[in-house]
Amino acid sequence: MSEKINCGECEMLLYYGEEISRRLYMRAIPDEAAVLAAYGDKCPRCGAALSTDTVKVQVKRRATHES
Ligand SMILES: [Zn+2]
Repeated sequence: MSEKINCGECEMLLYYGEEISRRLYMRAIPDEAAVLAAYGDKCPRCGAALSTDTVKVQVKRRATHES
């Protein structure tokens, strides 16, 4: 499973990789909030406030063709 997090305002890609909940199990990344905190809870492109409510989180079983 892969996971993608985009800014809810400008669609900037904030995270792409292994599903975070699974990494939590592997103790690699704490959670989505920690990813957003790494950006200072602000989108580096448009400055929108980032929270788990405002970003778009997509979890995919297997990436076939990304557009
Ligand atoms: Zn943005």
